[in-house]
Amino acid sequence: MTMSAAMTPLETLKQYFGYDNFRSGQQMLIDDILAGKDVLGIMPTGAGKSICFQIPSLMMDGCSIVVSPLISLMKDQVNSLTQSGIPAAFINSSLNERQIYKALQNARDGAYKLIYAAPERLLEPNFLSFAKSAGISMLTIDEAHCISQWGQDFRPSYAQIPEFAASLPRRPVISAFTATATRLVRDDIADLLKLNDPTVLVTGFDRQNLYFEVQKPKDKYSALITFLKDKKERSGIVYCGTRAAVEEVCEKLKSDGYNASRYHAGLSDIERRENQDDFLYDRAQIMTATNAFGMGIDKSNVSFVVHYNMPKDIESYYQEAGRAGRDGESADCLLLYSGQDVHTNRWLIENGRDKEYQDKETEILLKEREHKRLREMTFYCTTNNCLREYVLKYFGEKPSNFCGNCGSCNTNFETTDITVDTQKILSCVSRMNERYGLNMVIDVLRGSKGGKILRFGLDKLSTYGISEKSERQLRDIINQLILAGYLLKTDDEYPVIKLGEHANRVLRGGETVQMKLAKEKEVKESPKSTKKQTVMKPVSRELFAVLRELRLTIANEQGVPAFVIFPDSTLTDMCMKTPVTEEDFLNVSGVGIVKLERYGKRFLSAIAEFLQNNGDTKTIK
Ligand code: ADP
Ligand code: ZN
Repeated sequence: MTMSAAMTPLETLKQYFGYDNFRSGQQMLIDDILAGKDVLGIMPTGAGKSICFQIPSLMMDGCSIVVSPLISLMKDQVNSLTQSGIPAAFINSSLNERQIYKALQNARDGAYKLIYAAPERLLEPNFLSFAKSAGISMLTIDEAHCISQWGQDFRPSYAQIPEFAASLPRRPVISAFTATATRLVRDDIADLLKLNDPTVLVTGFDRQNLYFEVQKPKDKYSALITFLKDKKERSGIVYCGTRAAVEEVCEKLKSDGYNASRYHAGLSDIERRENQDDFLYDRAQIMTATNAFGMGIDKSNVSFVVHYNMPKDIESYYQEAGRAGRDGESADCLLLYSGQDVHTNRWLIENGRDKEYQDKETEILLKEREHKRLREMTFYCTTNNCLREYVLKYFGEKPSNFCGNCGSCNTNFETTDITVDTQKILSCVSRMNERYGLNMVIDVLRGSKGGKILRFGLDKLSTYGISEKSERQLRDIINQLILAGYLLKTDDEYPVIKLGEHANRVLRGGETVQMKLAKEKEVKESPKSTKKQTVMKPVSRELFAVLRELRLTIANEQGVPAFVIFPDSTLTDMCMKTPVTEEDFLNVSGVGIVKLERYGKRFLSAIAEFLQNNGDTKTIK
């Protein structure tokens, strides 16, 4: 396969990866990298970060170095790239000296477009001398939050990256990627990596296809079994807080007839590898694991992630839960919470041994931050408000207070007529001459006796104390009214609430206003899931099964996980498009040129055979 210099990023995407469009943000980062600009891409798990550096790597002269923290991640990525006809290699401790020597020699000869390396490797003499002599077009840092002590996953070896970059004869473009979006970490990454006026792209963190739920069951195991009832043959992960819990849950599941496997740091390397493969290759349906499992696992058809224990922070939770539904299909994320989880996590912060600290002072500071993150995680488990809203706010977004696709929204919210409340709020804002901020408006509505209120004489207004709603409810209502254009919040340093363009419709036009509002507090023990059943796309289940079987055969022949051959979404698209010619096949989402050449014939003939046996019609149900 030769690359033509004239290919555009979009053509490259189609040719190698078989996709027709870029996802939001990808094109911009790619264009900027190609223009020689540093970039920092902050995108949630599953958003498609890899393509943002893989495509420019392909298009630029020379090769890129991708720094990545985990061996399994590198291996899968290199596997996938090779499958798509892109020359790539990894260099890490899973190779012996000879293999490393050979790989570096090939790299010197220009055999690869991408080289994945662990951060510890960068300053090693052999690697460094290779990097200095080769034309390195780009340095990519994956999981870039690992460089920040503010992050949840600090790795000292990441601190070597700037020194490595500085020692290259010509500074390459630097691109950094992470799924962690807190402001502090973001700034830290840009600082520490010395990014040069980078383009920072933060794509929305919402994963709309994920359903979130928290349960507080008396008996976690039976809650798990209830949850698994309608998940036959679907892949999923059950994360447990400790090794002992992994063992226990895995054993129970097995004796209840589930095809479960296990993964934690106490197992031998060989067993870990085997179990992980069983899961990746769809031989085991459920993986019970500690958080040691999964960082490198981009298995696309994980359709549920259960947390048997509460994790230590929202970052970890969202990352782990985010391993569900990477193929875009709807998937479930359930957290089973108990008060004991808080104690366990507190203990781990104080006594855990997996962290290194420079000195006592840093230790105290970092532990404080960990406690804070734990409190925020605990809050997620106990809130009655929209779970998605909570997480997205945590990552700095401004979501609506009702998502309609989480455990809280489905049980704790009710549609309420708030016309009268709206009239009260609007006239209050008007009587306050549209000159005050949100808190003052709320205080006046609730009849607060705060000093400012009395000083400004706001207690004399006819709307003073007119509302009996709680502060939280008023805040929700006002925010919704802003979103709906009944109110307006100015964009100043001290924002002021004013009447919006639609205010008169309610004040004079007789318009009614309805809104989903959180029911007032009543803590549920273990709410029955009220989730809508997932609707299967109208594709032939039998054809899908046939193609899945073929994929498994090919994967076994090649010794790679099935999703490396094609993700489920590509098989689904084949079922819908039922391609007949090679050209049709290339139109299937996820089929690039090399995969057409490699697998086109076999899949096309499997589809043709299926159609013939099933009435040779293109519209199958
Ligand atoms: P991340 O690293 O952000 O977690 P990945 O790079 O692993 O995500 O991408 C997740 C999935 O989305 C992969 O299966 C990938 O092939 C797919 N993907 C990425 N970009 C696109 C695109 N433009 N169109 C369709 N699928 C895409
Ligand atoms: Zn919600």
